[in-house]
Amino acid sequence: MKTDVIHGKSIDDWKNEFPLLSDMTELKEVFWMNPKYKFTEDPSSLTMEDVRDAEARLARFAPYIAKVFQETAKDNGFIESQLVSIPKMQERIEKFYLNELPGQLLLKCDSHLPISGSIKARGGIYEVLKYAEELALKHQILTLEDDYSRLAEPDFTEFFSGYSIAVGSTGNLGLSIGIMSAKLGFKVFVHMSADAKQWKKDLLREKGVTVVEHASDFSEAVAQGRKQASDDPNMYFVDDESSKHLFLGYSVAALRLKKQLEEQNRRVDEEHPLFVYLPCGVGGGPGGVTFGLKLVFGDNVHCFFVEPTHSPCMLLGLMTGLHDEVAVQDFGIDNKTEADGLAVGRPSAFIGKVIENKISGISTVEDEKLFTLLTILADTEEIFLEPSALAGFSSYVELFSSEAGKEYLRNHILDTHLKNVTHIIWGTGGSMVPEREMKQYYERGKRTIG
Ligand SMILES: *Cc1c(COP(=O)(O)O)cnc(C)c1O
Repeated sequence: MKTDVIHGKSIDDWKNEFPLLSDMTELKEVFWMNPKYKFTEDPSSLTMEDVRDAEARLARFAPYIAKVFQETAKDNGFIESQLVSIPKMQERIEKFYLNELPGQLLLKCDSHLPISGSIKARGGIYEVLKYAEELALKHQILTLEDDYSRLAEPDFTEFFSGYSIAVGSTGNLGLSIGIMSAKLGFKVFVHMSADAKQWKKDLLREKGVTVVEHASDFSEAVAQGRKQASDDPNMYFVDDESSKHLFLGYSVAALRLKKQLEEQNRRVDEEHPLFVYLPCGVGGGPGGVTFGLKLVFGDNVHCFFVEPTHSPCMLLGLMTGLHDEVAVQDFGIDNKTEADGLAVGRPSAFIGKVIENKISGISTVEDEKLFTLLTILADTEEIFLEPSALAGFSSYVELFSSEAGKEYLRNHILDTHLKNVTHIIWGTGGSMVPEREMKQYYERGKRTIG
């Protein structure tokens, strides 16, 4: 809650030191360029070898995934999304926001990832598989050389039912963990924060998941899940605030993206830079993807995070250097947003430290704009995303219109290269949203357009 003194300084002192804080506490949209941005490989942190290890694990599980989730069979059990060109959207927002937007605009459709319809299908499902593999190897009922489709047999489900998995979530991570764990046979407990949508709770209960509802926000739901698991040696806790496995699951996206860009003959080099815009909650999804992209493309990729004006937790943590020792509520910011996937008041310190010299900047976006963008995207490209997943578009537009954004471009991209830039909006979720809810989102956006 809001206190007068934060880490020994008054709010006014903090604002003097970081003038952007004044706009943030007034809930205005801001664009912060990261003063520590400089790509340097950090030898003490995770490496490409870890990313490759995660990639190989997903490949081992692919025959199992293909068998138990029919919709993944056509991709041989690989959970991957399309990278699509959206020129009509680009043209429309150019007119709508009266701004020239050079380069090619693409959408990474994690909204349509199979199984759970959001970016959490990367990290969340990966971590459950990792745990299942560890257990099965340890009990010598599986070897690394086996065909993992065996895991669909009843003796495995029986085995896994002796173990449980817990997680705290604003919704989408719960869906991914819940669906995957229940399929393997685990008992699952999903601790949901107050902002989690009713349909997500209903869907999980249908799948046999125990949903524990909390009146408080994300951080508290996570704390409750962690507490429950700490009392039970056969319960595994998926820690959205500090899990290395979740992080690595997300990072594999970079290797897959590289391949997709190559298949589409899109070059990424000094003359053809890549800009990626990622919605940020606690930081794991965008952080993992950024980490992988920096390993793959180095200085030629520029990653921007986006947060709601009501939940700018990663921005606050990185700018002040306080990481998880500060919450937006300390500064009187309420963490109330319609972008439920991003409704996080306290950032992950683990992620913040890994990415603090890798991300180019963070912008914030008003909820209303997410609905406007949702409707424009639906009208132009017939793609429907959930509000959180539209956030990247705002950052893309602001890069070309805000003073901070323009300065970043001047400092990093030669004028003659601007037309060569590939811009990727990470569309982090949406395909699981029930039609009725989506219609309400769409109509809300329609009203903002007039
Ligand atoms: C979880 C989520 C994000 C952000 O991921 P974090 O790991 O919380 O930063 C973005 N968009 C959607 C739709 C999400 O569900």
